[in-house]
Amino acid sequence: MGVPLASQRRLASLDGRRPTVATLCSHSSLQIFHGARVEGLPTLGISVGPPQKFYDAFPLARPDRFLSVARVSELPGVAGRLREEGAVLIPHGSFVEYLGPEAFGALDVPVFGNRAVLAWESDRRKEREWLESAGVSMPKRFEDASEVDGPVIVKYYGAKGGKGFYLAKNREALSEFRPTGPYVIQEYVLGTRYYMHFFYSPLSDRGYRVGHGSLELLGMDRRDEANIDELYKLGAQEELLRAGIRPTFVVTGNVPVILRESLLPKAFEVGARIIERSIELFGGMVGPFCVEGIMTEELEFKVFEISTRIVAGTNLFISGSPYSDLVAPGLSTGRRIAQEIEKARAEGRLAEILS
Ligand code: AMP
Repeated sequence: MGVPLASQRRLASLDGRRPTVATLCSHSSLQIFHGARVEGLPTLGISVGPPQKFYDAFPLARPDRFLSVARVSELPGVAGRLREEGAVLIPHGSFVEYLGPEAFGALDVPVFGNRAVLAWESDRRKEREWLESAGVSMPKRFEDASEVDGPVIVKYYGAKGGKGFYLAKNREALSEFRPTGPYVIQEYVLGTRYYMHFFYSPLSDRGYRVGHGSLELLGMDRRDEANIDELYKLGAQEELLRAGIRPTFVVTGNVPVILRESLLPKAFEVGARIIERSIELFGGMVGPFCVEGIMTEELEFKVFEISTRIVAGTNLFISGSPYSDLVAPGLSTGRRIAQEIEKARAEGRLAEILS
């Protein structure tokens, strides 16, 4: 038996009924609604303003119903309506980002996963404390510019959308950096980026056992980032800076990737350590999460970020991935979420996966 995350009061709105899978109409909502539909669960799309017309173009992913609010900040005011609908909210990147982690964490509606994770993810220092104490390798962090001994990336706190990073080849180049807010200086890791889509089920008693449940790998992607991914075509950085071009990491899309099979043990080990430590720190992370890191030429995987919910890169795999097809054919992360909700309901264990 896993840890109960939700009180009975919080789950009272779901008493004896099939939960309605609800999320904000954005990010990975098509995948989430599609997955719920395949698993036979009702769906509700929360739209800001009138529902977007593009949902009509995707009949297998259009939610059964919409609930519109004028502004995302009005969501807490419709919590009662959402409870009446028997809604379970599925967090995704845009949902948490637009509403803000605090307001999202305070919503009085059942949420899929452990909302205690928000406090650990939304603060870069706490995130590092979690991952490092789990024994996960991360890019070195420099407390002071004088310690810098190689290429670095400077990140502002809460940098949005990949803008505002500063790259410096060495300490000398870093001295030209003029900060405009609080920042961290990190080792710039040379290697290949992988964004690994995991799913942790505290309900499962088979597969790759971790904690009281099991860990699944459902897919992997790499993000396309403008303009950094194309900068090399224009030549060296100094030339670019002279031309007034600064590198940015604005995500514009995703490409599917797979890892050398011999590196899979490392991937699972990293995922398992993060879960085990999350259980000790805050009762455990549940459901989808993404480990974002760089594989160096020494085949060391350094993690620079973790997303503790469904990531947009999983949208590549609505009909399955080279990994999830080996768990169950045609399994998407959205569908896996719906399966977990349905299994928990059938076994009377919703308190272990909702908060
Ligand atoms: P983040 O905001 O931490 O997700 O970083 C945004 C992007 O910056 C990543 O997708 C990577 O392309 C790049 N990046 C972040 N940290 C590092 C690092 N330590 N070394 C090299 N590239 C990085």
